[in-house]
Amino acid sequence: RNINRYSTAAAVEELITPQVEVNYTQHLINGQFVDAASGKTFPAYDPRTGEVIARLAEGDAQDINRAVSAARKAFDEGPWPKMPAYERCRILLRFADLVEKHSNELAALETWNNGKPFEQSAKSELPMFVRLFHYYAGWADKIHGLTVPADGDYHVQVLHEPIGVAGQIIPWNFPLLMFAWKVGPALACGNTIVLKTAEQTPLTALYVAKLLHEAGLPPGVLNVVSGYGPTAGAALASHMDVDKLAFTGSTETGKTVLELAARSNLKPVTLELGGKSPFIVFEDADVDKAVELAHFALFFNQGQCCCAGSRTFVHERIYDEFLEKAKARALRRTVGDPFKKGVEQGPQIDVEQFEKVLRYIRSGIESKATLECGGHRLGSRGFFIEPTVFSNVEDDMLIAKDEIFGPVQTILKFKDIDEVIRRANRTTYGLAAGVFTKNVETANRMMRALRVGTVWVNCFDVFDAAIPFGGYKMSGTGREKGIYSLNNYLQIKAVVSPLNNPAWI
Ligand code: NAD
Repeated sequence: RNINRYSTAAAVEELITPQVEVNYTQHLINGQFVDAASGKTFPAYDPRTGEVIARLAEGDAQDINRAVSAARKAFDEGPWPKMPAYERCRILLRFADLVEKHSNELAALETWNNGKPFEQSAKSELPMFVRLFHYYAGWADKIHGLTVPADGDYHVQVLHEPIGVAGQIIPWNFPLLMFAWKVGPALACGNTIVLKTAEQTPLTALYVAKLLHEAGLPPGVLNVVSGYGPTAGAALASHMDVDKLAFTGSTETGKTVLELAARSNLKPVTLELGGKSPFIVFEDADVDKAVELAHFALFFNQGQCCCAGSRTFVHERIYDEFLEKAKARALRRTVGDPFKKGVEQGPQIDVEQFEKVLRYIRSGIESKATLECGGHRLGSRGFFIEPTVFSNVEDDMLIAKDEIFGPVQTILKFKDIDEVIRRANRTTYGLAAGVFTKNVETANRMMRALRVGTVWVNCFDVFDAAIPFGGYKMSGTGREKGIYSLNNYLQIKAVVSPLNNPAWI
C-alpha cells in the first residue's frame, strides 16, 4: 500500500514525552481541590499509546450536589454577580494573561490527553482561548438593559440579569476551546458555574480553572467536576437548583439532557450537537485550492469536528481531476506522534471512537463506495487511522448520512446547483457548509439556500470570538460566541412603575 508515514515500529519508538506534569486531578469545588465523595477515581489516557496518564476523582451525583451548592451560595450570597462589572472584566483579563504565560504547558497537556498536533494546540488553540477571554472580558461591563416607551404614564425598565447557576457539559474534541465558549460568556454575565468535562479529556480544564482562581475569581463561582456522562453529567442536567444548561456533544446525548432538563425544573437548554456538513465545489473553482480546503475541512483535528466538511460535493465537470488530487493529498498527509514537528494528524481520541470510525469504513466498503485510499489502522499502538477517501458515494449510504467523526472523506458528484442545494439540505443536521466558487451569483444563492448555522464561502473553519456559531435542525439550539452567546446566560426582567401618582391612590 502506498502509505508510509506513521507505519513503522521505529516511529512508535520515537514517541516524545511531553514536558508537562499533571498537577490537578481532584474536583475543584468552592475554590478547593477535593476528592470524589465516593473516593473513586478513573483514568485519563494518552491516545498515542492507550497508556494511563493520570487517575482523576470520579464525580457522581454527590459531587455534583456539592458543586451546585457551592455555585448556588456563590450566586446568592457571594460578590460575583453584584461586583462592579469592571472588576469582573479585570479578573477575566488577568486570567487571559496567566493562560498566555502558561500556554506551552497547557498546549502540551491538551495534546497529551487529546492527541491533536502540538503545533495546533500551541499556535492556534491557546491563542484562540486567550482571544475568547479578552472578548468576553470586554463584554463584562457592556451588558445593560433597555427602557421601553410603554403606553400610558409608566416608566418601564428591562433589566438584563445573570441567569443564576449554569450547568455546562463539554466534549473531548476541543477541551480548552469548549471551556472558553461556555465559561467565558457565563462569567462575563455574572453567573456561577458547575462544569462537567468530558471523561476522555479532564486535565486542561482543571489547570485553567486553577489559574482563574489565581486571577482573583471568588470561590464557588466556577466549580469543575470530572466524571462520566450517565452519572455526573445526568446529575447536573437534572439538578433542581441549576438554572441553565449548556451542552456540546452528540445529538443522541443532546436529546437525553434536554429530557432530563424538562423532567426536572424546565431549565433552559442550549445544545451544540453533531453535523454532516456539505463542502460544495462548483465547476469554476480553482481545483488545487478547492482540494486543499476540502481536505482541511474534513481532516482537521483528526476529523473530530462537529462542523467537519464531511460530504464533499464536487461538480461533475471537475470531479475526476478533483478526486485524483484529493486522493494524492490524503496520501501525503503526515500522520504520527502529535508532538513531532510537521505532523498533521494524531490519533483518534479513544478506542471507542477508533473502532466506530473503522466500522464506518467497513460500511462504506460494503455499500460499494470506492475506497480510494486508507481504510486501516496505522501502527500497532494507540488509535491512529490512515487518512481515508471514498469516491462514488451515494446520498443514502451510511457514510454519507451519519457523523463519522474521523479522518474519512466522502466524495459525491453533482450536476447542477438546484440538485446540490436539495441534496446538501437533505439531512437531519444543519450546522455548517462550505461553498467553493468564483461566481458571486452562485455564492449568493447558496448562502441563502443552505439551511445551516454557518456558511463559509471560499474558506472553512474560520472561527472568531465575535462570530456566532450553532445549528439549524438537529444540530442544536442557540448560538455560542459573539453577542448572541450572552442571551444564553441572561434573564430578562421588566420593571414597571408609574411616572406620576397612580390613579388608584
Ligand atoms: P457524548 O455526547 O456522549 O459526550 C459529550 C459530553 O456529554 C461528555 O461530557 C459526556 O460525559 C456527556 N454525557 C454523556 N452522556 C450523558 C448523559 N446521559 N447525561 C449527561 N451528560 C452526558 O459524545 P461521545 O460519546 O463522547 O461521542 C460520541 C459521538 O458524539 C462522536 O462520535 C461524535 O459523533 C459526537 N460528538 C460531537 C461533538 C461536537 O462537538 N458536537 C463532540 C464530541 C462528540
